[in-house]
Amino acid sequence: MDYKQYVTVVENFPKEGIRFKDITTLMENGPVYKQAIEEMADFAADKNIDVVVGPEARGFVVGCPIAVQMGIGFVPVRKAGKLPRAVLEVDYGLEYGKDSLNIHKGSIKPGQRVLITDDLLATGGTIEATIKMVEELGGVVAGIAFMIELSYLNGKDRLKQYEVFSLMTY
Ligand code: 5GP
Repeated sequence: MDYKQYVTVVENFPKEGIRFKDITTLMENGPVYKQAIEEMADFAADKNIDVVVGPEARGFVVGCPIAVQMGIGFVPVRKAGKLPRAVLEVDYGLEYGKDSLNIHKGSIKPGQRVLITDDLLATGGTIEATIKMVEELGGVVAGIAFMIELSYLNGKDRLKQYEVFSLMTY
């Protein structure tokens, strides 16, 4: 499947010089969205995954359907101030900005095997922060799956010791 034909590249969003990959046009197409999710779940099928973790908001769009497809749970990673119970907090740098991410303490049990998901790998800052949280909670990162990898930003260099899958590469 040529998934790229369903992604819209938006020039200069959210700021000058960025070529934003808009996956909402892929999501609008039910059969294509379903096949994309199934292909990402296939990558993880033989990895004995216990739980899927994804950062808001587009990590939910990818991670939740993968978790349902695999019949396992999903743990959200959110921006500061959004999760209601005690959290673990990690600072991170974005392709265009800086922020901090939270995860509920106790949401991942020590030794659990985790699939981390997001829509897109850019510099890798978001996923690096997510990995840090999973590992601090005692989880084992057994795989990382993206819809899109921007290879020219070299985010994969930060993920060398992990098994990484991308549905599309730009
Ligand atoms: P990174 O932390 O790897 O630099 O940036 C990745 C994060 O930024 C992801 O969570 C992703 O949702 C968002 N992001 C950055 N650039 C794009 C883009 O071009 N398209 C989409 N859909 N998300 C992006």
